[in-house]
Amino acid sequence: MSEKGKLAIYWAASCGGCEIAVLGINEKILDVANAFDIVLWPVAIDAKVHSIEKMDDKSIDLCLFNGAIRTSEQEYMARLLRAKSKVLVAFGSCAHEGCIPGLANVTNREEIFQTAYHDTPSTDNPEGIRPQTETEVDEGMLYLPIFYDTVKTLDQCVEVEYYLPGCPPEPERIWDAIVAILEGKLPAPGSVIGAETTVCDECPRTREEKRIKEFKRTWEIIPDTETCLLEQGLVCCGIATRAGCGALCPTVGSPCIGCYGPNEGVEDFGARMMTALASVIDSEDPEEIDRIIHEGIPDPIGTFYRFSLAASELRRTSLATDGDGQSAASA
Ligand code: SF4
Repeated sequence: MSEKGKLAIYWAASCGGCEIAVLGINEKILDVANAFDIVLWPVAIDAKVHSIEKMDDKSIDLCLFNGAIRTSEQEYMARLLRAKSKVLVAFGSCAHEGCIPGLANVTNREEIFQTAYHDTPSTDNPEGIRPQTETEVDEGMLYLPIFYDTVKTLDQCVEVEYYLPGCPPEPERIWDAIVAILEGKLPAPGSVIGAETTVCDECPRTREEKRIKEFKRTWEIIPDTETCLLEQGLVCCGIATRAGCGALCPTVGSPCIGCYGPNEGVEDFGARMMTALASVIDSEDPEEIDRIIHEGIPDPIGTFYRFSLAASELRRTSLATDGDGQSAASA
């Protein structure tokens, strides 16, 4: 890129960790500033949406979009930035797979509002007021975005060129991606930028044949420092998870929870993990197998779809309103 390019960074339904991860590239952020004019980055600079609306289509060279799509405003920004950007990157697990916000797909807007505005012990709302999309005040009409029933991944709304996985992506991988973009050495559109192997492949722990009689929660044992955590009974998702983090969690004794998403060729992270665990349970007695699973894995959705429910084959629990995962009022 000979002249300065244009860069946009946007934050939708996410925790903000991806924004911090961008700064994790440390002084290299100055190289980014040398290579790009930053036209939108709400967390760091004062740029206006109407300025982006006035730009020509495809005039932003690179947009790093983090966060899932939970509201109409986020969907509008996804569509706007898609139109204005040459390269749109689903940056981080929320944009890539829905991540923790996507776990809300086990419920719906009504239940979420009921909990948030009525049922929580700290809520003081005697008049039962809920947010409205339109409220008239003396000064005029106030608008709030529509809160959808279903959290969507970025590519369920718009076409995406690349995916940079992780919760958040490791700064080294962010820098690798920026260098690849600057040097025009990107993989084919639609690719995940990063490794094609699994966390197990970069994990230093020794692996032998796994035969498990009991799954354990992390607080139930102090694992030894050498042996594969799965062999010690901890549900470690390294076997289904894309490499790229350096196996940080299992290296320090904490099981991989799958934040880098499925490795190459895996369609459904949870299905891959369930298959892997089924093959290591050391029993042929259906009742004992049931006991091992129910006692050791009390939260299957949180264990197998913590990061990927919105992107999975399941996508969400069924809604009574219609068949496609959105209520008519909130789609
Ligand atoms: Fe794979 Fe986890 Fe075992 Fe390491 S500890 S080899 S990441 S299953």
